[in-house]
Amino acid sequence: MIDFSFTEEQLMIQKIARDFAQKEILPRIRDLDRAQTFDRSILKKMAELGLLGLTIPEEYGGVYCDYITLGLVCEELEYVDTSLRVILSVHIGLNSLTLLTWGNEEQKKKYLIPQAKGEKIGTFGLTEPNAGSDAVAIETRAEKRGDYYILNGEKMWISLADVADNFIIFAWTDWEKKKKRDHSGISAFIVERGMKGLETATIHNKLGIRAGNTGSISLTDVEVPKENLLGEEGEGFKIAMFAIDQGRYTVAAGATGLIRACLDWSVKYANERKTFGSPIGYHQLIKEMICQMAVDYEVSRLLYLKAGWMKNQGIRNTRETSMAKYYACEAAERAASNAVQIHGAYGFSDEYPVERFYRNAKGAQIYEGSREIHKIIQADYALGLRIDKPLRCNLPPYKG
Ligand SMILES: Cc1cc2nc3c(=O)[nH]c(=O)nc-3n(C[C@H](O)[C@H](O)[C@H](O)COP(=O)(O)OP(=O)(O)OC[C@H]3O[C@@H](n4cnc5c(N)ncnc54)[C@H](O)[C@@H]3O)c2cc1C
Repeated sequence: MIDFSFTEEQLMIQKIARDFAQKEILPRIRDLDRAQTFDRSILKKMAELGLLGLTIPEEYGGVYCDYITLGLVCEELEYVDTSLRVILSVHIGLNSLTLLTWGNEEQKKKYLIPQAKGEKIGTFGLTEPNAGSDAVAIETRAEKRGDYYILNGEKMWISLADVADNFIIFAWTDWEKKKKRDHSGISAFIVERGMKGLETATIHNKLGIRAGNTGSISLTDVEVPKENLLGEEGEGFKIAMFAIDQGRYTVAAGATGLIRACLDWSVKYANERKTFGSPIGYHQLIKEMICQMAVDYEVSRLLYLKAGWMKNQGIRNTRETSMAKYYACEAAERAASNAVQIHGAYGFSDEYPVERFYRNAKGAQIYEGSREIHKIIQADYALGLRIDKPLRCNLPPYKG
C-alpha cells in the first residue's frame, strides 16, 4: 500500500517551521547574509518551538516526531535560507540522532537531553585540512592515558563550530592501523566546549551559507574522559557513516525546499516581466527551465520521502538517502542557476534572493558527500560492488 497523505501532526509541525522561517527570518535574511552574521537568537527561537529536538524521544527531552516530519521541516527552512536547515543537519542529523543511537544511557542523559531541549547545540567534526571525502585520511589522534584520551588535531569546515557546545570528534586511537588505512583504528568522542585545549574559529568570506556559521576546531592536548568515548573503541568510522546517513537526509529535504523556492520566485517573475510584447513565461525556452524545476521538485521530494519512510521503519537506507541527496543537490544547483537566468540582470544582484540560492546551492554539491562521491556510491550499488552490511546500531524505528 502506498499512502501519499500526511498526518495532522506532520502538517502541524510543518506549519510551525514554515511560519517561523517566513515570518521571522525571511524579512531579514538578506541583511544577515550581507553581514555574514550568524544570529544566535535564531537558535533560542527554534528551541522554543521544539525544532531542535525533532525525532528525539520525549524521555530524552525531544519532540518525538517521525523522519518524514523532520524532512518536511528541513524543506520549509531551506525554502527561506540554507543556513536555517544546516542547523538541523548538524544538530539533529549528524549529532543528536548519533547520540540517540550509539550513546549509552549516561551519555544520553548528559548530552542528548540538553541538546534536544535546545539548551546546548551539537555539531560533528570529521573533516580536516587534509581529509574530506577520504575520511580515513584524518590525522587527529587520541592517545589513551589513564582515565582520559588526549586528543590532538585540527578539524576544518565544521558547521556551527563557533556556536556549538558539544562536538562529536573522530580520531585515530590505533595509529598503526592508520598506516594500513584500516578504519577500525578510528574512534568517536564527545568533546565539550570548555575542555582545555579546544579552540574554535569562524571561516569568513564563504561563497554561500553566509548567514550560517562554519569554522575550524583546534584540539591541543585536550583531555577527554574515557566515559566520552562514543560506541566502542574502533567504531568511529561506522559511527561517522551512520551519522552521515541522517545528515544527508536533511540535506536532501532542504535542497528540495530550495528548488521550490527557485520555482516560486521564477514563476512570479516570469509572469510579471515582459519582453517582445508578452510575459517571459510565454517564451518556450523559459518554460523549459520552469518545467525542469517543477519536475525536479517532485522527483526530489519523492526520493527524500521514500528515504524518510525507510528510516521510520528502521530499514537500512544508505543507498536511498545517498540517491535523494545526490539528486536533490544537483537539481537545486540547476534550479538556482536557471532562476538567476530567468531573472536576467536582476538575478545577478541581491535585489532578488535567487543569487543567494545559487551561492547556497553550490555548497550542497560539496558537503555530506560531494557530487562525485555520490556518483561513485550509486554506481557501485548498481554494479554490485557495494553491498550494505548490517550495522551494530541502526536508526531506531519510529514508534509514535
Ligand atoms: C559549508 C560547509 C559545511 C560543512 N560542514 C561540515 C561539518 O559540519 N562537519 C564536517 O565534518 N565536515 C563539514 N564540511 C566538509 C565537507 O564534508 C567536505 O568539504 C567534503 O567531504 C569534501 O571534502 P573536501 O572539501 O576536502 O574535498 P576533497 O575530498 O579534497 O575533494 C576535492 C574534489 O575532488 C573530488 N573527489 C574526491 N575524491 C574523488 C574520487 N575518488 N573520485 C572523483 N572525484 C573525487 C571531490 O568530489 C571534489 O570535487 C562542510 C563543508 C562545507 C563547504
